[in-house]
Amino acid sequence: MAGPQITPATMDAALAAIMEWRAAPEVAPVCPLCGAGELGVSDHSARPHSEWYRLVCRSCGLDQMLHVPLGAVVPGGEG
Ligand SMILES: [Zn+2]
Repeated sequence: MAGPQITPATMDAALAAIMEWRAAPEVAPVCPLCGAGELGVSDHSARPHSEWYRLVCRSCGLDQMLHVPLGAVVPGGEG
């Protein structure tokens, strides 16, 4: 049974949520699909050139791995 999925239409919001989480991991971002402020994000990156994040929302049932190409969405200035 297919649960809620990130689609191209909601990818921007999903990436924004990941960026928020990276900036403040102690604060749960808002779910890009249902808007609940309890999105779970975990880093599953395994390679130096790409990053994988798992997004889990208890509210709407989202559970999806997202691939984030390095350099594509990271705003300047890290650390
Ligand atoms: Zn949700």
